[in-house]
Amino acid sequence: MRYLSTRGNAPAQSFCDILLGGLAPDGGLYLPESYPQVTRAELDAWRQLSYAELAFAILSKFVDDIPAADLKAICDKTYTAEVYRNCRPGQNAAEITPVHWLEEGKLALLELSNGPTLAFKDMAMQLLGNLFEYVLDKRGEEINILGATSGDTGSAAEYAMRGKHGVRVFMLSPDGRMSAFQRAQMYSLQDGNIYNIAVRGMFDDAQDIVKAVSNDHAFKAKYKIGAVNSINWGRVAAQIVYYFKGYFAATKSNDEQVAFCVPSGNFGNICAGHIARMMGLPVAQLILATNENDVLDEFFRTGVYRPRGTAETHTTSSPSMDISKASNFERFVFDLVGRDGATVRELWAKVDAGASFDISSTPFFAKLPEFGFVSGRNNHAGRLATIRFAWEKYHTMIDTHTADGLKVALEQAPAGVPTLVLETALPAKFEETIREALNRAPERPAGLEGIESLPQRVEVMDPDVDAVKAFIVAHVGH
Ligand SMILES: *Cc1c(COP(=O)(O)O)cnc(C)c1O
Repeated sequence: MRYLSTRGNAPAQSFCDILLGGLAPDGGLYLPESYPQVTRAELDAWRQLSYAELAFAILSKFVDDIPAADLKAICDKTYTAEVYRNCRPGQNAAEITPVHWLEEGKLALLELSNGPTLAFKDMAMQLLGNLFEYVLDKRGEEINILGATSGDTGSAAEYAMRGKHGVRVFMLSPDGRMSAFQRAQMYSLQDGNIYNIAVRGMFDDAQDIVKAVSNDHAFKAKYKIGAVNSINWGRVAAQIVYYFKGYFAATKSNDEQVAFCVPSGNFGNICAGHIARMMGLPVAQLILATNENDVLDEFFRTGVYRPRGTAETHTTSSPSMDISKASNFERFVFDLVGRDGATVRELWAKVDAGASFDISSTPFFAKLPEFGFVSGRNNHAGRLATIRFAWEKYHTMIDTHTADGLKVALEQAPAGVPTLVLETALPAKFEETIREALNRAPERPAGLEGIESLPQRVEVMDPDVDAVKAFIVAHVGH
C-alpha cells in the first residue's frame, strides 16, 4: 500500500515512511492510493475476532512494510483489558470498546474512552506509541515529540509514549488554564522521557511556540523534532478499527446497517468512519455533531467551508471540540472531488490564505449525499439538558462531548437502524459541567481518586521560543 498527498504533488510513500512525519512536502495530507475493499467473506470472519485480532486484520490492509508477526504483536500488546480498563460497571473490558445500549437495538454509546486518559484519543495514541518504538528501534533512530495541548491530546500522547525507547515528549500547556484533574494527569507522570512545560500564557501562545520551533528547519532536523497531531495517518488508521467493532457488536448479521454519530472537531474521528464506509462497512449514515464551533456543520448543510480565526472561536464546555479549522477535513474533500489533487490545491489556496470556499453550486455538492453525512450542532444549554436527559431517562452519565453527539443523534438518527453515539470522553474529565447539569460529581475510575495530590513534575516558563529551544537542547543532550 502506497500513500499519496491530497494535493497531488508529492512522491508516493510507504506506511512507515509517513508514520513519523507530518504534512506531505506539498502541504497536503497523506491518504492510501485506494481504499482496500472488505469482502463479505471477510466481514463474516471478522465478526468473531477479538479487538486486537480485528485491529491486525484491518491494519494489515494498510501496512505492508512491517512483517505480519511484528504487526500482530504490536496490536496484541496495545489492545488489552488492562490498558482499557475504565469501562462502566458490568461491561467487559476485554471488548476494549464495549457497546452500552440506551435503548436496546436502537440507540447506544460506543465506549471509546476506557483507556488511561479517559478520552477516545487513547484508542489511536496507544497504538502509535508502540508503532513509533518499533520503527525507531528498527532504524536506530530517535524522535523528540514537541506539542501544545489544552488537555486531551497532550495527556494521551504522554501516556502512550512514556517509557518508550527512542522517544522524548516535550509538551507545552497553558500554565494554570487546565482543570486540576487534567494537570494532575499530565504533570504527575514521572517517566524520564516525558517533559511538561507550562507556558505563562494561553493555549495559542503555546501553539505559536511549537509552530516557531517547527519552522526553524535547521533546529528541527538537528534535534529530530516530530509531532503526533491529529493529521497523523497512523492515528486515523487505528480509529477505523472501532467502527467495525461497533458494527459487529450492534448487529447480528452483516446484512444489517448502522448509523454512527461522532462528536467532531478536527474531523479525525469521523474521517476514520468515512474510510470504514468506503471500505464497504454497511454504514447507513455518518452523523457529525459539533458544539458552538460549527464550521463543519455549516459545510455539510451549505457547501461553504469557512474556517474561523481565534477571535471567532468560542470557549465552550466541550473544549476538545473548540476547533475553528478542521485539520483532517482536507482528506474527505479529496475523496469528494474525485481524488483530484489540483482541485484540492485550488480550494486550500483559499483556506491557507485565511479565506473560505463555497462548493454549493458545483457538481461536488450534488454528490455529497452519496457519502452518507448529515450534521447538527449543540450549545451549552443543550449540553446540560442532554446530560440530564441521559441521566434521568437512561440512568447513564455522559460527558459534555458525548452529550453533543447524543443531542444531534436524537434529532437526526435514521429510522430502522441502530445508531451508535461515539463516547469520546468520560464524565470524570469534566466534573464542573457535570455538577452544573446534575448537581453531583461524576465517579472517578478506580485508581484515579487521589491523583491531584500526587507529586507533579513541570517546568514553568515564559512564552519564549528561545527558552523552549534551550530546554530541549539541554535535555536531548547532543
Ligand atoms: C479530540 C476530541 C474530539 C474531537 O475529535 P476529532 O477527531 O478532532 O474530530 C471530541 N471529543 C473529545 C473528548 C476529544 O478529545
